[in-house]
Amino acid sequence: MKTPMLVVLAAASGLMAAAPAHAALNVVTTTEDLASIAREVGGDKIKVESLSRGYQDPHFVEAKPSFVFKLNKADLLIAVGRELEIGWLPPLITQARNAKLQPGAAGYLDASLTAKILDIPTGQITRAMGDVHPQGNPHYWLDPDNGKRIATAIEKKLAAMDSANAAYYAQREDDFERRLTAADKGWQAQMAPYKGTQVVTYHRSWPNFADHFGLDVMGYVEPRPGIPPSPSHTIDLIKAMKDQGVKIILVEPYFDAKTPNSIARETGARVLVLPPSVGGVPEVADYIKLFDYDVRQIVDAIKSTRVK
Ligand SMILES: [Zn+2]
Repeated sequence: MKTPMLVVLAAASGLMAAAPAHAALNVVTTTEDLASIAREVGGDKIKVESLSRGYQDPHFVEAKPSFVFKLNKADLLIAVGRELEIGWLPPLITQARNAKLQPGAAGYLDASLTAKILDIPTGQITRAMGDVHPQGNPHYWLDPDNGKRIATAIEKKLAAMDSANAAYYAQREDDFERRLTAADKGWQAQMAPYKGTQVVTYHRSWPNFADHFGLDVMGYVEPRPGIPPSPSHTIDLIKAMKDQGVKIILVEPYFDAKTPNSIARETGARVLVLPPSVGGVPEVADYIKLFDYDVRQIVDAIKSTRVK
């Protein structure tokens, strides 16, 4: 007759052992880049989910009903900000009915606030111009130094929400910065021979990346951020590329390659489809691997166009 009682006790103690001292913080991010950095800092003290996938255009994410559910259960929402998500996130936050996550509340972290932001417009801004970057360039995570700034902001937020684990978050943030710095030395060394190489990009996704790694973005397939290619702009771009001998067109995976391919045919340039986010291709599984992959692809592309 002892056995059933032992089983019950064993089951009960098993449950006790499995239950953490307190539940992990439930973190939702808008992009996989932020999820990766949050995971680096939060370790096993947080659960992280990204709403968008890295192969989607982060300006135009199709909202799913599951997003509302995830936001409803979240303790912390981390957003890229600078209006990157303005087309899809605000209604989800409203529908989620979670007071913690409203902009300005303690559970809402705008990761752009402490980042280095480029392309901040001066003068009158009007949405009629079709510009999707009215608050400066929101693709700022593509500079590893901004990755560190994002990690620091996340560490501070997690420590404020969960002070018992503040030392744990601080240690993990330090370790992430150390690994990112070491990796960046390698990326810089790979890019060093190609400093100043001129490239064209489809969307204005890469100014922070170009700044950090010494590329010169001389033109865009889009006439303005968020505006599809137009024949007159394409003709001007082809002429400028021919004049300056530009041989690389970087295209984010979610854009139609038709116009870039026709520009490439006219100019002899090479189209390089390059993921700007974690998850953009399967092997880019985290934030450090994003730069591993993109730097290698760019270096290979530059080499291949120089051999010709
Ligand atoms: Zn953009």
